[in-house]
Amino acid sequence: MEAAEAVVRSRELLAWVTPLNRDCGRLCGAACCQPDEDGKGGMLLFPGENALYDPLPPGFTLAPDRLTGALLLTCPGMCSRGSRPLACRFFPLIPLLSSPVPDDSARFTLAMDVRARPVCPLSASGMAGLSADFVTGCREAGKILCASQETRVFLAMLKEHLRKYRAFL
Ligand code: SF4
Ligand code: SF4
Repeated sequence: MEAAEAVVRSRELLAWVTPLNRDCGRLCGAACCQPDEDGKGGMLLFPGENALYDPLPPGFTLAPDRLTGALLLTCPGMCSRGSRPLACRFFPLIPLLSSPVPDDSARFTLAMDVRARPVCPLSASGMAGLSADFVTGCREAGKILCASQETRVFLAMLKEHLRKYRAFL
C-alpha cells in the first residue's frame, strides 16, 4: 500500500473515536495541545500526510524537524477534527514496530506513548483505562500503516526517537 493511502485510511479510522467516551481535554485543560515552556511543540507527520496540509490551515506551520528530519507540524493549540494530524489522533497511544527490520513481515505493538507521561493524566492507568473503541481503532489504524513500506521505515525511526526520549527522561 502507498503511504499516502495508508495515512488517509488511518486518519479516517481515528476521525471520531477519542481516548475516553467523554472529552478528556476537560480533565487536563487539553494539556497535550499546549506548547512547552519554550513555546515549542508539534507533531511529526506520517509519510504522505503533508499532502493533506497544502494549503496549511491558518495558524499551522510545517518544517523539517531538527532531531528526526521528518516534517514537524505545529498548530495554534486549537484545531478542527479534519485538520488534526494522525499523531494527535493516536495520542496517548502510539504504534511501535515490534520487528527489528521494517520489511513486509514487520508487526507492531500498540503502546502508551512515553511522551504522554509528563502531560497526560490517562498515562498512569494504561490502555485498560481507555475507551475500547479508541483502542480498537488504533489497532486497525496501526495494521493499515504497517502495510506501507515507507511508513514502516518511519515507524522504525520513530521507535528509535522515542527510545532516546525515554533515556533522556
Ligand atoms: S493530555 Fe491526555 S487526557 Fe489530556 S487531552 Fe490529551 S489525551 Fe486527553
Ligand atoms: S493539532 Fe489539534 S489536537 Fe493536535 S496538538 Fe494541535 S490543537 Fe491539539
